[in-house]
Amino acid sequence: MANRLGVGVVTAALASVGLAGVAPVGAAPSRAAPRIVSLTFDDGRVSQGVVDGLLASHGMVGTFYIITHAVDSGGDHPESLTWAQIDRLAHDGNEIGGHTRTHPHLPTLNHGDQIQEVCGSRQDLSAHGFAASSFAYPYGDYNPAIEQVVNSCGYASGRGAWGGVETIPPADRYALRTLPNVTDQDSVAGLEAETTAAKAGQWLQYVFHDIGDAYPGGDQYRITTANFTAFLDWLGRERNQGTIVIKTIGSVVH
Ligand SMILES: [Zn+2]
Repeated sequence: MANRLGVGVVTAALASVGLAGVAPVGAAPSRAAPRIVSLTFDDGRVSQGVVDGLLASHGMVGTFYIITHAVDSGGDHPESLTWAQIDRLAHDGNEIGGHTRTHPHLPTLNHGDQIQEVCGSRQDLSAHGFAASSFAYPYGDYNPAIEQVVNSCGYASGRGAWGGVETIPPADRYALRTLPNVTDQDSVAGLEAETTAAKAGQWLQYVFHDIGDAYPGGDQYRITTANFTAFLDWLGRERNQGTIVIKTIGSVVH
């Protein structure tokens, strides 16, 4: 609703200064069918602790795919968010999704172990009060049989890790396509260009891992807090102009 209100404010502002007849040449079609942007965060990495406040301050929400057996793994160098942090994310309107219990390559497991990892992750989330509807495949690794497992466990979607822009509705909700995972090689301008290049009505799923300047157990899948914030700033401006709408995965596929 915030997005719709934002569009209304912009439209009213244009009308009030007499620009309504000039500006909508390009704006009207984009308001009718904006691009849909989903911000997704994998693994519940501890560095994502900064994301809650950053999204909230921008009036945005994302989808967080949690490795349930990694949560509260504790120690002096925890690699995962805590259940308390995940509670806060959900409280702020973010979506909590499943990403298995231990992050295996699912195609290497037998059927029973696949069930344990996928259904088990949904049961773990349920036990903590989250009715998870969205799932992401570890390493983007799946096949048609695993899609069936995800479906049978009660998840409404399965997200891969590549494929580019997605359609609405998606061709296969258990094989959701994403933009290339964000790495330390990406620039803010590059991230922006992926949205700008998309057509009205298309769905862009960004995949983030580590956010910030320290990466416990980290790899190349990371973005600095400064760059992440700059990207959110840009997305916020685009949203306020009506060219994009930001949605969780579950609010698009449900
Ligand atoms: Zn992962």
